[in-house]
Amino acid sequence: MMYKVVLIPGDGIGPEVAEATQRIVEAAGVKIDWIVEEAGAHVLEATGKLVPQSVYDAIERYGVALKGPITTPVGTGFKSINVALRQKYNLFANVRPVKSYPGIGRYSDVDLVIFRENTEDLYAGLENRISPDEVHGIKVITRQASQRIAQEAFTYARQMGRKKVCAVHKANIMKQADGLFLEAVREVAADYQDIDYSEVIVDNMCMQLVMYPEKYDVIVTENLYGDILSDLAAGLVGGLGLVPGANIGDDCAIFEAVHGSAPDIAGHGIANPTALTLSAAMMLDYLGEKESAQRIRKAIWEVLEKKESLTLDLGGAANTQTFTEVVIHAL
Ligand code: ATP
Repeated sequence: MMYKVVLIPGDGIGPEVAEATQRIVEAAGVKIDWIVEEAGAHVLEATGKLVPQSVYDAIERYGVALKGPITTPVGTGFKSINVALRQKYNLFANVRPVKSYPGIGRYSDVDLVIFRENTEDLYAGLENRISPDEVHGIKVITRQASQRIAQEAFTYARQMGRKKVCAVHKANIMKQADGLFLEAVREVAADYQDIDYSEVIVDNMCMQLVMYPEKYDVIVTENLYGDILSDLAAGLVGGLGLVPGANIGDDCAIFEAVHGSAPDIAGHGIANPTALTLSAAMMLDYLGEKESAQRIRKAIWEVLEKKESLTLDLGGAANTQTFTEVVIHAL
């Protein structure tokens, strides 16, 4: 089977980690016809647009994309491309698995999957300037979007044999908005008696994750809390070079690493491709190529465990190319 997947290498280290990822996926034996589309700061000058129309056309046509980082120029009035893509294609679930690797990061037993609602909350973009000295930012929570993300989290938990789902909220203060979110999640939880359901207030969750990350399993939460918790969680396991992500909608899915374009190391060939490669593994799961996805994860696990070919961000001396070749060898 030959799959067609849109590849957006993006800015900074994007093209370097994208090339590594393509090689690793190929070595895993999955045949992909990559539809390469350029987007990001480097095409802005030539086209006047961060994301040319052809990128949208390709995403709509093929429905699956692997995306590198796209830098949103600061202070230029550009809306975040990442937020725009999620809203445009109604990619309602942002899924971020955060897992420790042996001997890397501060903890040895983190194995979390964060399900972050991706389309509403304070990201709805509803800010009203009431007067020169007053702004109202509106938080939007709907029963439908809350149920949908909860459904996604519980379905995943059951499918993957995970035991616990924890909803993170601040309903003690935002009684109506977060109250509705919890009400919706509880309705879904009631259909999953086999899964241990709990609720934790977001500030407490920050402390819990730093002190006892091993106690948590699947986390389901609103957009802003999910954003903050997933960076916190990345910090528990050794940083941004390792954490993948998926944005899933009904008709379309975009897979991307949590990290940005890393301008400080771009062009040096030393970026860690693990985060994007693991995002590609999530994509292979989505396409039904679960066995190849698992082989890629296992190969990366082995290479990280041996520690001989770690990239700079993990304290090693290997460059992107060496690391990639070692992973391919492990495959
Ligand atoms: P952007 O504005 O594009 O989000 P940023 O510099 O704010 O970029 P990141 O690009 O995520 O944020 O980088 C944060 C730090 O993590 C940088 O020091 C960067 O070099 C490092 N980093 C991020 N991703 C990787 C990676 N894949 N490999 C190695 N180092 C990385």
